[in-house]
Amino acid sequence: MRADVLIIGGGIAGASAGYFLAAHRKVVLVEREDGFGYHSTGRSAAEWTAVHYLGLMRSVVVFGKPFFDAPPAGFASVPLCRARGNIMFAPPGEEQVAEEFLRHAGPLNPRLREISAARAVEIVPFLRPEVLARALYDPDNGEIDVDALHQGFLRGMRGAGATTLSGVEFHGAERRAGVWHARVGSEVIEAPLLVNAAGAWAETVAARAGVAGLGLEPRRRTALTFDPGIDVRGVPPVDDMSTGFYFKSNATTLMVSPGDATPSPPCDAQPEEIDVAIAVDTFERYTTLEVRRLASRWAGLRTFARDEQPVAGFAADEPGFFWLAGQGGGGIMSSPALGELAATLLRGAPWPARATELGLEPAVLGPARLAAGAGAPA
Ligand SMILES: Cc1cc2nc3c(=O)[nH]c(=O)nc-3n(C[C@H](O)[C@H](O)[C@H](O)COP(=O)(O)OP(=O)(O)OC[C@H]3O[C@@H](n4cnc5c(N)ncnc54)[C@H](O)[C@@H]3O)c2cc1C
Repeated sequence: MRADVLIIGGGIAGASAGYFLAAHRKVVLVEREDGFGYHSTGRSAAEWTAVHYLGLMRSVVVFGKPFFDAPPAGFASVPLCRARGNIMFAPPGEEQVAEEFLRHAGPLNPRLREISAARAVEIVPFLRPEVLARALYDPDNGEIDVDALHQGFLRGMRGAGATTLSGVEFHGAERRAGVWHARVGSEVIEAPLLVNAAGAWAETVAARAGVAGLGLEPRRRTALTFDPGIDVRGVPPVDDMSTGFYFKSNATTLMVSPGDATPSPPCDAQPEEIDVAIAVDTFERYTTLEVRRLASRWAGLRTFARDEQPVAGFAADEPGFFWLAGQGGGGIMSSPALGELAATLLRGAPWPARATELGLEPAVLGPARLAAGAGAPA
């Protein structure tokens, strides 16, 4: 089989790049698992936020916002993102975290504001006011319909002629005369461009193609849900700014995460008892509710570059190899932007002026910034 672009990984990253490329190039996407979205993409908290991130990731998320607000006709039959609001708080003794956050994020987000503990409890009545030494509110935080977004990308790329193969692993590739010969499942796919959208396995895929790694690190994050026995629909995400602990409603249940970020090899991540226990204990200390029985628990991997910013660009040592990785905790919300910008680079199309206005340039997004000695972007 031949293609113009071979994409490795059928999570949200690979699907988004395929979506933006498929009208212009012959695209083949391969996913090792039987279904698309089995790993990180199917395990997220589905949040959209322009305040949790600063620097490159914030610009990327802002660049992609119009796609969530007004996706192309027929992309999805439901809204891709609904505003939920977000309470962020600092517990007693940690007030400086809120102060610092306001200093950095406040000027960028005029709608972010400080609220009283009483106001926070009005919004989420089971919060204990005594833990809210400082509380901030972001009205723009949204909840993404991850499945609608992911399926929209996959459906769109197939509709434009792309091939998506699941249950097919990329084993390795050699580049000869400008063309990759990629061993995929039991066949060889030839393509001049190879896109590494393998999430936690991005380093493995690079090694299998003989490309130097970037030192990306997968980190495990745990989540659980339980039925609180009261109506929690509409409870916005509530985040402890000092530890990363958060909870939010997930339809009729509450989802809780301890905000863990434990380095892990790439794998089918599973929750550790200790992280579940920390989540439950913290939730019960911060609220008046009790966690009686868990409805579900899971863990997923968030993969970070050294500077904790996403990477989208051609490998310095191999011009036919494109990195689309390191999205950390923002791979869903950043996917329309990174998919579009990755496709722009892969096509050699003109760089969008709006991206430049937001400080997004190919050199800033690309992997060269991670080379030894290179400084982190602002
Ligand atoms: C608990 C948790 C909460 C999160 N919350 C949010 C949130 O609120 N908002 C947000 O925007 N993001 C969030 N994230 C982050 C987000 O889920 C990830 O950034 C995103 O899913 C990464 O997408 P991906 O396509 O790069 O990775 P994945 O979804 O993991 O896809 C990579 C795919 O590559 C495949 N693959 C790997 N190696 C090979 C190979 N050799 N051959 C073929 N296929 C291969 C894998 O099977 C996998 O399916 C969260 C993550 C976690 C774990």
